[in-house]
Amino acid sequence: MKHELIDIRMDDVLNLLRLNIVKQHGNELNAYCPKCDIHKIKGEGHLYINVYKNTFFCHKCGVGGNALQLYAWLSNMDTKEAYKELTQILTKGTKRARKAVAEPTVNYNITVKSDNLAPVEQRDKVYREFIKLLDLDEKHKEHLLLRGLTETFIKFKSYKSLNVRDERKRKEICKTLIEKGLSLEGVPGFFRHSDGSWDFINYDGFCIPAKDFEGRIQGLQVRIVKENSTSGKYRWFSSGNVPTGTSAKNFIHVTGSFNEEKCRRAFIIEGILKADICSYLMDGELFIGIPGIANSHDSAVEVVKNLGLKYEGEVYVVVDNDYYDKKEVQDAFEKLKKKFKEAGISILRLGFNLSYKGFDDYLLAKARGECA
Ligand SMILES: [Zn+2]
Repeated sequence: MKHELIDIRMDDVLNLLRLNIVKQHGNELNAYCPKCDIHKIKGEGHLYINVYKNTFFCHKCGVGGNALQLYAWLSNMDTKEAYKELTQILTKGTKRARKAVAEPTVNYNITVKSDNLAPVEQRDKVYREFIKLLDLDEKHKEHLLLRGLTETFIKFKSYKSLNVRDERKRKEICKTLIEKGLSLEGVPGFFRHSDGSWDFINYDGFCIPAKDFEGRIQGLQVRIVKENSTSGKYRWFSSGNVPTGTSAKNFIHVTGSFNEEKCRRAFIIEGILKADICSYLMDGELFIGIPGIANSHDSAVEVVKNLGLKYEGEVYVVVDNDYYDKKEVQDAFEKLKKKFKEAGISILRLGFNLSYKGFDDYLLAKARGECA
């Protein structure tokens, strides 16, 4: 059968690929590249697309071309196969089978994937079962032991390695979850292949469950454990840059508890894992971990409100000691303070021994009797 020769337009391809578009400026788009921006959830992407000129270029992958080449590249096909597939879709799916003369219309499915985020009840169930099916690498365990945690605590906290490189094994894990009656749809980290099979993103690191006020797992933060890693230590278990995946949000983490009579106080600290470690080293006191000092302020206020804390000396914010050198950290702290003040809650910054960068380093040294 001979196909009528049709042109492949960028907007057709974009509608099929459902890329995660970050910015649009006229006919120029910036998107997360599904090949190299796979773990990104904020900032600009590396992929630039000009809809009118019918061109694309990924600045990290160094790959560029026209709409057909973009489709072929992202679908792992050669252009001949891609053309065949596209003509079938376009001639069957739309009426436009002739060469277009008009300027392309801009109607992409700009997907903000957090919108399909599954409710916390579902995420909690999925992540709980998921974690049971993962192991903790010796290398990752070693890392946690060095940070002052015990084996029992590590087990209790369900830190597990996410470096499952074997696709078959990952798919097997997903299959097990589905057989348990769980839906992976809208759960960050998971995505579907074109054949319908489920998979998840693997990372060179271990996960730290981030729990809400009620102890439900909201998301998994990932501590990257890789030598010479230049792209930061923490990520979220997220699949927002895969067309069938879901982006994680900046979840917060509530850990520990307070003794109603003696110690009615909570500590807000930067870092999900750090919250766990500090709570552990302070006999299980209540810590609220925020992913970064500059974000999740509203969620932190919400938790403190739920706890019923508001007076001076009830809420402390613990910031790394680089606070003194970094104006952006100071500014972020002031913003946080303002947010709390608006909610009628007074907070104090907890200073600690300046010889240590992090509060966890300090607590650990103290526990070892290395400092007062
Ligand atoms: Zn790329």
